[in-house]
Amino acid sequence: MSSKILTANNCGNLNRLIKLRRNLHSRAELSGKEEQTAETLLIFLKHQHPDLLVTSMGGHGIIAVYKGEIPGNTIMLRCDMDALPILEDTELSHRSVTSGVSHKCGHDGHMAIMAGVASRLKENRPACGTVILLFQPAEETGMGAARVIDQLEYQPDFCYALHNLPGFPMGEIITRHGSFASASKGMIVNLTGKSSHAGEPLKGITPAPAVASLISYFGRISQYSEGVFITLIHATIGEISFGTSPANATVMATLRASTTAEMNELSQNTVREVTRIADEKNLKLKISWAEEFPATENADIPNRIILQAAKQLGINCITLKKAFPWSEDFGHFTQKYQGALFGIGAGLDTPPLHSPDYDFPDQLIPIGINVFNVIIERSLEL
Ligand SMILES: [Zn+2]
Ligand SMILES: [Zn+2]
Repeated sequence: MSSKILTANNCGNLNRLIKLRRNLHSRAELSGKEEQTAETLLIFLKHQHPDLLVTSMGGHGIIAVYKGEIPGNTIMLRCDMDALPILEDTELSHRSVTSGVSHKCGHDGHMAIMAGVASRLKENRPACGTVILLFQPAEETGMGAARVIDQLEYQPDFCYALHNLPGFPMGEIITRHGSFASASKGMIVNLTGKSSHAGEPLKGITPAPAVASLISYFGRISQYSEGVFITLIHATIGEISFGTSPANATVMATLRASTTAEMNELSQNTVREVTRIADEKNLKLKISWAEEFPATENADIPNRIILQAAKQLGINCITLKKAFPWSEDFGHFTQKYQGALFGIGAGLDTPPLHSPDYDFPDQLIPIGINVFNVIIERSLEL
């Protein structure tokens, strides 16, 4: 395959990809509801003549498969499809027409990049091996990747994904060997005691002291260690009824750790302490979990391939000293396969991800395509 550099000047495709990106942006859809997004992508992808197109992956996901003439490695590239429940605050002509929903994480740009990779593969089909382009739904809720993996009939040898990163120089590559993005999960603690008349609180079992202990414990553990902490997010006790001492309480917190091993330890310690507090106050306890993201842990070989691709293309590479505190559901892929996620700087002055005035910078589209293209070449050669 050719690794000819795709620029704004020499690529007729680029305008088509920018148009696609803006079209996807204007019709933003929430996690798990990416129906029109999938339809738009499908029309585009059919014209890129993959050997196989599979729809309904993990919901509205799509895979486009390009096969070489001789066997070889299976490489998977993944982009995400979903938007966020954020009201767009821009005057852009392509601003979202979906009320209260907009592409504020740049997944519209990630899809345009992947569409560009498909377009390139149409002209430069792999000589060997298999290339799978995955358009994955429901990244923001942490549901999509796991559902896709359940349905995936391929065993990728290597998998890759990128995320645009405002706050870093435009077009530069950001990598890290090992953990790139943190593990996180929501903990829901339900406590049940016994209600009583507010005039006779000692005849009941109120969960109030246990809630106070939990809030204090979660606050203390926020200092646990670098990259490992808990954020208290919600707490309720009883009903608004001045005649009743409450029986029920709910406390919710987000656990976060740089690596999956640290997350396992944090979870075990937290469950042990929450159980001790509930037992001490004679309360029934139910713990449940939500929005679980494993850490995105970059493996040796794919991380090295990303660095080599950046070098080959003359792109400056920034190596992170520590993992990002945010999570990415690409972690489900790096748990199961050898994979790596890398960042592309979206500009030092670009508004941050998930802010209402953010818009994916179109100049990253050709850069993303070029990097993925070299990654494919090098991964197939291994
Ligand atoms: Zn996001
Ligand atoms: Zn994102």
